[in-house]
Amino acid sequence: MSSTPKTEVFKTERLVIIGLGLIGGSLACALQKARAAGEVSIKTIVGCNRSLEGLKAAKQNGVIDEFCTDAAETVKDADIVVLGVPVLSIRPILEQIRSHLKPGAIVSDVGSVKQLVVDDMTELLTNTGVHWVPAHPIAGSEQSGVSAAQPGLFKGRKVILTPSENSEPRAVAQIDAMWRATGAERFHMSVSEHDRVLAATSHLPHLLAFSLVDTLASQERGWDVFKFAAGGFRDFSRIAASDPKMWHDIFLSNREAVIEALDLFSADLTNLRQHLLDEDGESLIEVFKRAKAARDHFEEQFQNTGSDIE
Ligand code: NAP
Repeated sequence: MSSTPKTEVFKTERLVIIGLGLIGGSLACALQKARAAGEVSIKTIVGCNRSLEGLKAAKQNGVIDEFCTDAAETVKDADIVVLGVPVLSIRPILEQIRSHLKPGAIVSDVGSVKQLVVDDMTELLTNTGVHWVPAHPIAGSEQSGVSAAQPGLFKGRKVILTPSENSEPRAVAQIDAMWRATGAERFHMSVSEHDRVLAATSHLPHLLAFSLVDTLASQERGWDVFKFAAGGFRDFSRIAASDPKMWHDIFLSNREAVIEALDLFSADLTNLRQHLLDEDGESLIEVFKRAKAARDHFEEQFQNTGSDIE
């Protein structure tokens, strides 16, 4: 993994964001802010969703300059197209837009899984004259929709780009410059490393949170359990309020890496269970001490860099 050097000012004519939700909307907000400060030069920022509701409000609030609900129509003159939709919606959108993109246009995305997206982009965009540069901002929240968008969401956070050796350097530099304008720190990673690392640090914790909250809510006393839940449970369970469709797509798209991380975790959980059965307090303390040291180290890093898991 390598951090990218500073690049020149981000300049483009027409930037289209298909999927103007939390992430796509936050990207638009951050770029508008940079534009107002004279830090970037963008002629038009266009938002495209299937429904008009959020788009109208986003235009009124100055998040976007134009909107459209027809993805194929809206990409015709686009210089850059960013796909901000759930991961399994990327392929159908690529199929819809690919014959409408102009030669030289750059397609990027913000999807939380990269292998599937890279495979789809490679299959559908090769020999079209269009460049593609997959990306993933490691920032977000359990909220969704453009109404939750924030201009500062990516400031000081990491964005991972996964270009291949065949990626057009100018296209990679453009997407890098776009994210730099949001205040994000950019990294380049291989697709497989990205999916493996994110399976462990983001996808597995979300799976555990969904599972624990569901288990507790399904108990005989059901919702009553939550009456007595304290701050720790609230912290841990926050991510179980994340969008089910988005996470459905992530887990199915990164199945193998998530199963690998889950198997490792299950084995360690089985060991903990055994320590309990054996009343082996020493082993329990050893595990807790190791975990505390790792968490303290992570917190220190977090304080230093402001980085976050999504
Ligand atoms: P979101 O808030 O639900 O936004 C998704 C947007 O996509 C919605 O505005 C939706 O509007 C639009 N959309 C869905 N299908 C579409 C289609 N076929 N054509 C056009 N627009 C479509 O989701 P999000 O949290 O921003 O996540 C978007 C992407 O970012 C996902 O790939 C996710 O993996 C990635 N990501 C999320 C986070 C996070 O923490 N949330 C962090 C990093 C990366 P309509 O329903 O009106 O079409």
